Amino acid sequence: MSDGKWVEECGVFGVFDPKKVLHEAARLAYYGIFSLQHRGQESAGIVVNHAGQFLGHKGVGLVVDVFDDLHLSMMTGHAAVGHVRFPDPGEGGSDVIQPMQIKSKAGQLAIATNGSIINADEIRTQLKELGAIFQTTADFEVILTLLARNRIASDCIEDAILQVMSEIKGAYSTVIMTDDRLIGFRDPLGIRPLIIGKKDSSYIFASESCALDAIGAETIRDVLPGEVITVSEDGLFSRYYIPEETAHSNGKLCIFEFVYFARPDSCLDGASVHQSRVNTGRALAREAPCECDVVVAAPDSGVAAAMGYAMESGVPYGSALLKNRYIGRTFIQATQLQREMSVRLKFSVLKSEVRGKKIVIVDDSIVRGTTMRNNIQILREAGAKEVHLRVASPPVRFPCYYGVSASNPDELTASRSSVEEIRTAIGADSLAYVSLEGLKASTEGILCGHCASCFDGAFPAGVPECHAEIYSAQSLEDNEAK
Ligand code: SF4
Repeated sequence: MSDGKWVEECGVFGVFDPKKVLHEAARLAYYGIFSLQHRGQESAGIVVNHAGQFLGHKGVGLVVDVFDDLHLSMMTGHAAVGHVRFPDPGEGGSDVIQPMQIKSKAGQLAIATNGSIINADEIRTQLKELGAIFQTTADFEVILTLLARNRIASDCIEDAILQVMSEIKGAYSTVIMTDDRLIGFRDPLGIRPLIIGKKDSSYIFASESCALDAIGAETIRDVLPGEVITVSEDGLFSRYYIPEETAHSNGKLCIFEFVYFARPDSCLDGASVHQSRVNTGRALAREAPCECDVVVAAPDSGVAAAMGYAMESGVPYGSALLKNRYIGRTFIQATQLQREMSVRLKFSVLKSEVRGKKIVIVDDSIVRGTTMRNNIQILREAGAKEVHLRVASPPVRFPCYYGVSASNPDELTASRSSVEEIRTAIGADSLAYVSLEGLKASTEGILCGHCASCFDGAFPAGVPECHAEIYSAQSLEDNEAK
């Protein structure tokens, strides 16, 4: 978590020029993953096809820390894959940094993936029994190992990928570079985003359209749920893995991408992220109006929803809470005094905007509520007469098993507390959330359905076997009762 928010685990990027005119594929990948940095700040990596030899460079840190001009000038080539990531709790070390590359009987492979395979442990156990050796605990190694095995028995890499897709369960958007092609594929429900674009004669896959915009590429379209798109010297072609159970679904894109994960200038499956956030703020104002003097945003994640709330309610939007952008991620918070100081250094209040006023503060989501409690406290200390909290997503009551770095229900305030209990704990005068219907309707123009499992517990791609009992019908009923 970052600032008490869930964090997306990964951003993926791939580029391939079938005409081999492009020599700076790694540099394009660098700019691509730089613009996907919000999807993972723990590590970054790029593998390039350098005249038939795969060269990789990766490391811990931000994209700008991992790469310098020297690295990029040595990594020439017409194809590359890149990745940024945030690790699972307990996962660490350089072994789990993507892209991962292997040499198999069928040639070289490099993989960059975003998501989570819920039956990875079972597959890993089966493969170990067959003699496979794993270097990491990461899901992408399971995909790569399965793929290398399936490739030997398949006529082409695409057949092997379709076979892998029939064996794995979960949410994944993956880019694979082989000796002669680049392949992007998305799980049968399209839970994690993936888009394809074009720049000159090169084709590009990226987690979000903002990465295409950043390199001056035009968007072709989103990769469809279950679609496997190959880019090679023969052109572009698609194949599909559509299992029976998803045959009548038009996909279930993660709705939290619109709430918080995705960059506001991205467009996912036909819907603008920024516009959906403004629309949610409007819906929130209709569903949970409040008598107040000013609408303010929780910085920076609540800005678009707060603007929507202000527009719909007619109450002026004001700047009251400011975030210090220069506070390092390494800021030490070992003692209570340091934690308090951390909040005070991180956020400050424009007292003149707050003193004597009734304030509505709008945030995109409340997962743990710690940061919001501190923000409300400093607003009151600055003289706010009343502080009302409005949240532009429903209560987060369930963990995510589909590629978000939080799977412990104990971390979710709303899974164990009522709205009133949360209001009291946070110290707001009133608290209201937008409805799930209001949130879904806000993703105007979207071409698919939504995964909203962290709100409704539906889990369309299932849950890991070890958690299946927790989410049995009875458990869901208990949670509903809460
Ligand atoms: Fe997104 Fe929530 Fe579904 Fe996870 S459970 S994929 S965060 S909507």
